[in-house]
Amino acid sequence: MPSVADALRKHAPAIWQTLSIVQQKILSSIIRCRTGALGGVHYQCSGCRREHWVGRSCGNRHCPNCGHEKTQAWIEKQSAKLMPVHHFLVTFTVPREIGLVLRECQREGYRCLFDASSQSIRDVAAATKSLKGCQLGFFGVLHTWGRDPAVYHPYIHYVVPGGGVKLDDHGQAESWQSTPKNFLFHHDTLVRIYKAKLADELRACGLYDTVSMSAWNKKFVVDIQAVGHAIPTLKYLAPYVHRVALSDKRIVAVDESSVTYTVRPSKSVRTMTQKVEGESFVRGFAQHVLPSGFQKIRHYGWMSPNSKIKLDQVRWLVWLFLGWTFWLASGHAPQEKPLTQPLRCSDCGGQLRVVEVTYDPIECSDTRSLAYFDSG
Ligand SMILES: [Zn+2]
Ligand SMILES: [Zn+2]
Repeated sequence: MPSVADALRKHAPAIWQTLSIVQQKILSSIIRCRTGALGGVHYQCSGCRREHWVGRSCGNRHCPNCGHEKTQAWIEKQSAKLMPVHHFLVTFTVPREIGLVLRECQREGYRCLFDASSQSIRDVAAATKSLKGCQLGFFGVLHTWGRDPAVYHPYIHYVVPGGGVKLDDHGQAESWQSTPKNFLFHHDTLVRIYKAKLADELRACGLYDTVSMSAWNKKFVVDIQAVGHAIPTLKYLAPYVHRVALSDKRIVAVDESSVTYTVRPSKSVRTMTQKVEGESFVRGFAQHVLPSGFQKIRHYGWMSPNSKIKLDQVRWLVWLFLGWTFWLASGHAPQEKPLTQPLRCSDCGGQLRVVEVTYDPIECSDTRSLAYFDSG
């Protein structure tokens, strides 16, 4: 079966010169990932003693092959920050006209989107009865694609716990205050504040005038959804976080002139195939490459690493609120089993151990058997 890397290998050279340096660097990593061009890792099976050579992976966050281990590690790390309470998924989008401006000035544009939306959550919460006087802790993940990678659609998903840390007069953490299970804050207020803040942010960095006036009359889709326990939400978000939305599984065919991949239209259970010209495929993929070093996951309030209120303190307040019996039964008590499993031999299932790692190119015939191992 062809892969995303095969499609890029075939069609990227034709438009290579039109890509940015960052896009070239990333596409080139993906094309060489696990081929042996980046070196290799030599394993030996502790069961049957068979030797395995695996091409080193590129480890790039845009690579559809890499990041499975990172995704697992992310879920694990992120789960540790979550409280055993109900959560909300809050999504902020922009009308297409504004999206196109963000695509042209990504670093500044995405920052505006993060700042406007996170401040809206903070401000609207402060004006909401159940959260008055509380500090919230939440995190957001930026996405730029929908179901079809050819479509550019920037939006941020925030995972927001249903409650906050009540502060006393001196700004010290006092208690956990919960929101109702199905209500975080008023949707219409949130949309209004978000629109105003986004306009302010764009104005402050000189992008406002490049947005057509009509965009401000368009619908700003903002969604607040009660999602209950946050772990399923994390699992839903995880594939977005360390992989691009287009996985190898979705590539149906790559030929001299085109690439065919599957798309599942919204609200449909059936997938259909989409055939695009090779160049369009590469451009569609490259538009989701983030500015180098751009932080697409951001933490706010008591989830932020700079917070004066520490996570352990919040956890303590939540336990006091819920009671210890709840905690012991909730699965939030420390778990023994690690989420990541050791690498196994494809022949006998024995555990593999690393014998050597080389950074020189190697001839690597069997790149698929251990496709999900991140050799780093
Ligand atoms: Zn073996
Ligand atoms: Zn890779």
